[in-house]
Amino acid sequence: MVQEKAIVIGSGVAGIAVAIRLQLLGYAVHIFEANHYIGGKMSAFEIKGFRFDKGPSLFTLPELVDDLFVAADKNPRDYFSYEKLEKACRYHFSDGTVLDGFCNSEKLAAEIAQKTKDDEKAVLRHLKNCKEINDFASPLILEQSVEKAKRFKKLNPFKALKMLSKLQLNKSMHDVHAKRFKDSKTQRVFDRFATYNGSDPYRAPGILSLIADLEHGSGAYYPKGGIYSIAKALHKLAKEIGVVFHLGAAVEEIIHESGKAVAIKSKGQEHQAGIIVSNADVRSTYQHLLGNLPTNKNLFKKELSTSAMVFYWGINRQFPELDLHNIFFSDDYKKEFQELERGNLLVDNLSIYVNISAKKTPSDAPGNSENWFVMINLPANTEKDWRKETAKIKKSVIQKLENILGKEIEQHIICEEILDPHLLEKNTSSWQGALYGAASNEMLSAFTRHSNLSPLENLYFCGGSVHPGGGIPLCLHSAKIVADIVANKKAQKNA
Ligand SMILES: Cc1cc2nc3c(=O)[nH]c(=O)nc-3n(C[C@H](O)[C@H](O)[C@H](O)COP(=O)(O)OP(=O)(O)OC[C@H]3O[C@@H](n4cnc5c(N)ncnc54)[C@H](O)[C@@H]3O)c2cc1C
Repeated sequence: MVQEKAIVIGSGVAGIAVAIRLQLLGYAVHIFEANHYIGGKMSAFEIKGFRFDKGPSLFTLPELVDDLFVAADKNPRDYFSYEKLEKACRYHFSDGTVLDGFCNSEKLAAEIAQKTKDDEKAVLRHLKNCKEINDFASPLILEQSVEKAKRFKKLNPFKALKMLSKLQLNKSMHDVHAKRFKDSKTQRVFDRFATYNGSDPYRAPGILSLIADLEHGSGAYYPKGGIYSIAKALHKLAKEIGVVFHLGAAVEEIIHESGKAVAIKSKGQEHQAGIIVSNADVRSTYQHLLGNLPTNKNLFKKELSTSAMVFYWGINRQFPELDLHNIFFSDDYKKEFQELERGNLLVDNLSIYVNISAKKTPSDAPGNSENWFVMINLPANTEKDWRKETAKIKKSVIQKLENILGKEIEQHIICEEILDPHLLEKNTSSWQGALYGAASNEMLSAFTRHSNLSPLENLYFCGGSVHPGGGIPLCLHSAKIVADIVANKKAQKNA
């Protein structure tokens, strides 16, 4: 029997995942990727012997990656492995307090009780609540299509209200944390989970507190060899089961007839397919590939998640006081987010994230050196020329790190690369350089991301800019949701 062809536009983590799932459903899958490398935001590079993961660094829910290998009847451990971290993150405050974000709840509660004004019971109660919300909300919202998730609206008003109050949609994340914790340090530790999807803890609904359960309930993990090993492993699996990769092959157009997507155009040539999945940012897909469809104006009006500036530094010494993941908090977290909301950046009030994969993979940095991935939040906006601000931002970042660590840093930077919103948009087509598509700052954001369905029959969306959201775990959910929709349609057709 001739296999029906499916085309995936983009080889981000969700693109490769959906390609694997469609190939397993019996389609002959072709991935068209604009870059000459796979992985999209999840890519890697080397400078002067230092290896860097370019985008994601924090890894949770590894079982979602394993699931792809299991689905293909393979042993995931033959492709990639990971270890559970004892500490998800080390938090640094300007008064010199260093707080370890242990993955184990009891250890975290004891650490917070020792370093802040909050007690163990408050932390344990909070983590228990985060787990309850996660257990309740994940299958309901994150693991199924937005169309199914929205069915809660059809519940009777009493049930719907009960559900809304359970999900803490009517309070901000910060309100939830401020009610439960006295100390602004504890509040910041839990507020910062809003940044996992580029949102603002002072506006994002309380439901997002559940993200803490990922690190402190299920745990944070480190994939052996760094995050890029995930993309490499999925690439290997995809090729083994027959997915064909076309690299350096940007898609120029999605061709449709009578409301049906029928082909794509790449390098001026048409390629027909029964199923087309866009893993490219949904806004870029509408703007650049579906230009002849009426534009979905609401989509473009939605607030975007944050973007970032990342400094990749080769550092010619080691810093034992730093862990794999570190956050240096700003003193006025609220102000930092207020400025981001206004599209600004207060360079003297930045929170800084430092990831050093060489702490786990020493070969990522030569000799006694370290590879620093230093990231700050920026508004998603490529109309503003952030490159003009780079020197100012860098100076402020170095000053802050030097002040808190009490050590010289600048003189130890021996090589550097920089990522900014413009490059992010150029390299991955992420609209305005947003890391996670739309922000989740509204009460019902979880139900209002762009669907995995499109206005065209046979065209689907999957990846961080659509339902259920950005970040590796949600991207993998989106790939499964799309494959499930396609499988159901196929079953109906064959029935
Ligand atoms: C700096 C940074 C830090 C992050 N940190 C974390 C983290 O710690 N943990 C976490 O879980 N997540 C993190 N994320 C988010 C995470 O990386 C993304 O949510 C995820 O990788 C997005 O994957 P995706 O499948 O949606 O596609 P993307 O990675 O966005 O890839 C889309 C692909 O489509 C291709 N494409 C676009 N248009 C076309 C076209 N016309 N033709 C052909 N190909 C096209 C692009 O070239 C790209 O390869 C981070 C992201 C960044 C940038």
